[in-house]
Amino acid sequence: MFDVEKIRADFPILKREIYGKPLVYFDNGATSQRPARVIAKMDDYYLNWNANVHRGVHYLSNVCTDGNEEARRTVRDFIGAASEKEIIFTRGTTESINLVAYSFGERFIGKGDEILVTEMEHHADIVPWQMLCERKGAVLKVLPFTDEGVLNLEALDRLLTNRVKLVGVVHASNVLGTVNPVREIIEKAHAAGAKVLVDAAQSIAHTEIDVQALDCDFLAFSGHKIYGPTGVGVLYGKEALLEEIPPWQGGGEMIREVRFEKTTYNDLPFKFEAGTPDFIGIIGLGEALKYVGGIGLKAIGAYEGELLKYATGRLLEIPDFRIFGTAPEKSALISFQVGTIHPLDLGTLLDRMGIAIRTGQLCAEPIMQHYGVHGMARASFAMYNTREEIDIFCEAIRKTGALFEGGKA
Ligand code: PMP
Repeated sequence: MFDVEKIRADFPILKREIYGKPLVYFDNGATSQRPARVIAKMDDYYLNWNANVHRGVHYLSNVCTDGNEEARRTVRDFIGAASEKEIIFTRGTTESINLVAYSFGERFIGKGDEILVTEMEHHADIVPWQMLCERKGAVLKVLPFTDEGVLNLEALDRLLTNRVKLVGVVHASNVLGTVNPVREIIEKAHAAGAKVLVDAAQSIAHTEIDVQALDCDFLAFSGHKIYGPTGVGVLYGKEALLEEIPPWQGGGEMIREVRFEKTTYNDLPFKFEAGTPDFIGIIGLGEALKYVGGIGLKAIGAYEGELLKYATGRLLEIPDFRIFGTAPEKSALISFQVGTIHPLDLGTLLDRMGIAIRTGQLCAEPIMQHYGVHGMARASFAMYNTREEIDIFCEAIRKTGALFEGGKA
């Protein structure tokens, strides 16, 4: 049995009231909340153990180094990586993708080469590739999606020429919710000689990921979307590939020997971790993954799937309610418009009722262009959300619609 009340009790913020109303937090796609045990773990390290990692011979430094490296092994096991050398700590998904765009790009991308991304990528999986293309004279190609929000895999066969060196694909879209068939895409890309980076920012907290079963070359995610701290994320890369590509940032930690004539670099994963890492954040992320692992992503995914089904059914009863993204494989978020109500007005009115949703272009302007809209509203669910909250949300939307004369204002 999935005990949502027990889970809710782990998150102190969920007891808050906003404008005197119980908080309904439906902005988990932007960032999730953190359970008390993650905050307590970080507090403990700051209060009792703090010292810089990988440097000192002293007690505290060793404790933090051990904590940092234990978290790396936790990440390794969480995503099924073959080795902890394949786990690089970054600031988040965005930095992980930029690292690959720089390092892989430096080594493997030349004039006339192609990078293929999908039309439903977050800006973080578009702009770094555009910058790379500008630097190298390479070309960015785009795999389109249908109005339902499903990638056009026939176009993939056509687009995967032997000039494509890398495919960037989002596992679960932060706007459409679509869970993409990444295994199939990876197989096709590999057959065409391209490497694949999977943006797992929106899937990591909702579905089990096994990087070896997927056979992805790179995978990126952020700690703050899986109940961990902000400012910490992960880049997974296959060891052989990480060995081949150059470091990105230079500084302490990433070196073996520094001479003015020539510097040599450290082994994996440290070659990609210049400077003092956010080791207490990393330890917090390890704690968050242990917490999620204890509940189990299968159970979480099943529960959230039920929430999505319930919410979709109830919301579609509301007049003029339009959902963007109706793929059969969908993660627990709903992007929508109600009549002609501006999403910002909708978000502002819901906020007054204690409900937090996201509005605007959702860091995915090409998706807005696909549908010819300026913005959307989005409700994104987490394992601690409930049917009762969805009822409150539906009622609030009905009230807002009525304010705008049935959504036709
Ligand atoms: N990709 C996707 C699909 C996302 O949803 C997000 C965050 N909204 C990112 C990348 C970027 O993540 P971060 O801001 O944590 O680097």
